[in-house]
Amino acid sequence: MNKDVARILVSEDEIIRRSIELGKQISEDYKDKKAPILVALLKGSVPFLAELMKHIELDIEYDFMDVSSYEGTESIGDIRILKDLDRSIRGENVLLVEDIVDTGRTLKTVKKLMKDKGASDVKIVSLLDKPDRRVVDIQAEYVGFIIPNEFVIGYGLDFNQKYRNLPYVGVLKEECYK
Ligand code: 5GP
Repeated sequence: MNKDVARILVSEDEIIRRSIELGKQISEDYKDKKAPILVALLKGSVPFLAELMKHIELDIEYDFMDVSSYEGTESIGDIRILKDLDRSIRGENVLLVEDIVDTGRTLKTVKKLMKDKGASDVKIVSLLDKPDRRVVDIQAEYVGFIIPNEFVIGYGLDFNQKYRNLPYVGVLKEECYK
């Protein structure tokens, strides 16, 4: 285990098993609909996207968006687009792929953006959900794991761009950020 990790919250095995379940559920839910375009939010969702999509038995496409809030560490509603989608999503079913839903502001804004771009349907799949931190009304249709209000790293999640490569989700030791 990495020396900066206080404890592992979700193991690699658990993430793989849950991704298989979510992939099956998504495949079932969209089987009579137009296959979704998976829109993954950079950079945190990349490992989860890579695992999840192997278990979706549909002719999906995937694309990336990179957004950032205008201010410091606390995320705010107003976002800046650093990388936009490569193609039009007008009339498409979009499945947003995210690492974690925290305050919910990012996803609420991006979901609206997808609708404004003409997507006919927008749903959300998130590896993690921290419901205690929510400040806006948004709910992911597909959630990997509900976690307590602690700062987590690994499986795409960073602290100052580090730890994204850890193969599990862990709690960062307080001494690393205090
Ligand atoms: P929201 O707009 O829901 O507050 O922000 C979501 C984003 O905040 C996530 O995509 C992630 O980048 C960041 N975030 C929220 N909670 C955590 C956490 O516990 N650990 C890390 N590393 N990032 C987090």
